[in-house]
Amino acid sequence: MGRQAYVNGRFVRHAEATVHIEDRGYQFADGVYEVVTLLAGSFVDEAGHLARLKHSLEELRIAMPVSDAVLKLLMAELIRRNNIRNGYLYLQITRGVAPRDFKFPKKTRSALVMTTRRQSFSPSLSDDAGIKVASVPDIRWARRDIKSIGLLAQVLAKQNATEAGAFEAWMVDSDGFVTEGASSNAWILTKNGVLVTRQADHSVLHGITGNSIEYLARELGVKVERRPFTLAEAFEAREAFITSATTFCLPVIEIDGRTVANGHPGELTCNLRQHYFDYGQKRQDRPFAWPK
Ligand code: PMP
Repeated sequence: MGRQAYVNGRFVRHAEATVHIEDRGYQFADGVYEVVTLLAGSFVDEAGHLARLKHSLEELRIAMPVSDAVLKLLMAELIRRNNIRNGYLYLQITRGVAPRDFKFPKKTRSALVMTTRRQSFSPSLSDDAGIKVASVPDIRWARRDIKSIGLLAQVLAKQNATEAGAFEAWMVDSDGFVTEGASSNAWILTKNGVLVTRQADHSVLHGITGNSIEYLARELGVKVERRPFTLAEAFEAREAFITSATTFCLPVIEIDGRTVANGHPGELTCNLRQHYFDYGQKRQDRPFAWPK
């Protein structure tokens, strides 16, 4: 049947998959999403992604359209139908279809859409790998812990980064601290060997990949601090990297045109990438705790 998507109770041909024009996701960005990576046939950090999905839904008072068990079955079935072993699954839940009106509709069933994409991943990186990052002001709303489908600020941030020749944008808050990447978390390894990333409060999305990377780093004996850091601190860093489900852990070699350290992927970054890859293939979900 070719590539398939899941739309509100049915598996349909991807090219013919449609949603209603009065879906509140389309009209108000009234919905949430998750992206779960599939590595060698199994989902990486599935439990964490489903925990964050629930958090996002609860904060917005959107009902889970199906039970956890059914959702997991549907995810597995979509992967099976698309015959994918490496890639990712995109999952979106909106408040559903209703005549356009800001307040919550009384009787609406939340809508579930899932698609998949094939992608291959490699644990190792060549010495000239690494990405460039461009900073932009963080102009988003105050509840960035919710994985909202309202992504206009990130669209603009990525476009600005692309026009500046960079792969990712690092968003900077009004106090001069880096919050996170447009679609990733931001990390630095300080000169003193401390791994730093922003604390998981409402100012950033609590990255599922970053959560596991933090565990892996601690297991390697690396000290991890969750606190804000400035661009000035990042310019001086020994290493810098980003984490996300689709990039795992990618070295940052340039920030706003300034070379990070010697301009090559850092040793710890490459190590963590390899460890995350191994961890992903072993399906050992690390515990996932929600910040209060
Ligand atoms: N921050 C933002 C803004 C993101 O969009 C993402 C990617 N979903 C992340 C961080 C990383 O999250 P995860 O590791 O769960 O993919």
